[in-house]
Amino acid sequence: MIVCESLVRIYQTGSIEVQALQGLDLAVDRGEMIAVVGASGSGKSTLLSILAGIDAPTAGKAHVGEWDLLAMTRADRVRYRRHTVGFVRQQTASNLVPYLTAAQMVDLPMTAARTPASERRERAAELLDTLGVGACADRRPGQLSGGQQMRVAIAVALANRPQVLLADEPTGELDTATSAEVFEALRTVNREFGVTVVIVTHDPEVSGRVERTVAIRDGRTSSEVLRRTASHENGEEHVIAEEYAVMDRAGRVQIPSDYRTALELTRRVRLVLEADRVEIRSDQ
Ligand code: ADP
Ligand code: MG
Repeated sequence: MIVCESLVRIYQTGSIEVQALQGLDLAVDRGEMIAVVGASGSGKSTLLSILAGIDAPTAGKAHVGEWDLLAMTRADRVRYRRHTVGFVRQQTASNLVPYLTAAQMVDLPMTAARTPASERRERAAELLDTLGVGACADRRPGQLSGGQQMRVAIAVALANRPQVLLADEPTGELDTATSAEVFEALRTVNREFGVTVVIVTHDPEVSGRVERTVAIRDGRTSSEVLRRTASHENGEEHVIAEEYAVMDRAGRVQIPSDYRTALELTRRVRLVLEADRVEIRSDQ
């Protein structure tokens, strides 16, 4: 569903250049739900704005469904943002219109897409119900809790049945219990509507509950954690999490800084090919 290869985004402000993405690789399957984690400034929001069609990459490859994000016209971009992706922004409030009710906000993108009124009403009710905020249909943002606001924002993002839902730190401003609720809401829409979900998060609770977590460091994907459930002999289920380093198409792998420190690996290392592994040794 999503393929990014060697994706680069350079921001130019005056004479200063910031490389927000420095050759990022990412592939997400249709129907998958993944978390993207990384320190502040590592390029997570930049990646999401590019996937949302709000920002344009400087170089590299970015495909979502049948769309090539580097070769879209202005009109393509409008259609892409309206129908292919739903985006929930980082600040809860910026997703909502203060003077509209929840039902009216979900209605808005469908009106823009010229959906007939009867269908709009039905879809808005279905979405708000699925997200557990059906009873809030006639309330304005000021009359909703933080968790309810976020679930309404998700409903708005899903109004035109996008194939991909992008959420930038959707639980960042919420307490633990509320953020668990919002995560469950995302899980529900992933299951019920089959929408592919990418969640940027700092929250270990969230990243611990998806099958795959991708870590971004310095504008590149550096590692992935895969989780699967296995059963003990007594039938009890437990989660196994395994961390993998990501190798890009040119064969580059990032060695975590604590490994580099532990073995004093600096600019040059020795690579030794063994029968079943590659060793990385200090130059000394
Ligand atoms: P994250 O979401 O992981 O915190 P961002 O994608 O927001 O990271 O930012 C990555 C880097 O790009 C940071 O160094 C940030 O300062 C820079 N950056 C982001 N947006 C802009 C912009 N519009 N203009 C200039 N620099 C930007
Ligand atoms: Mg961010």
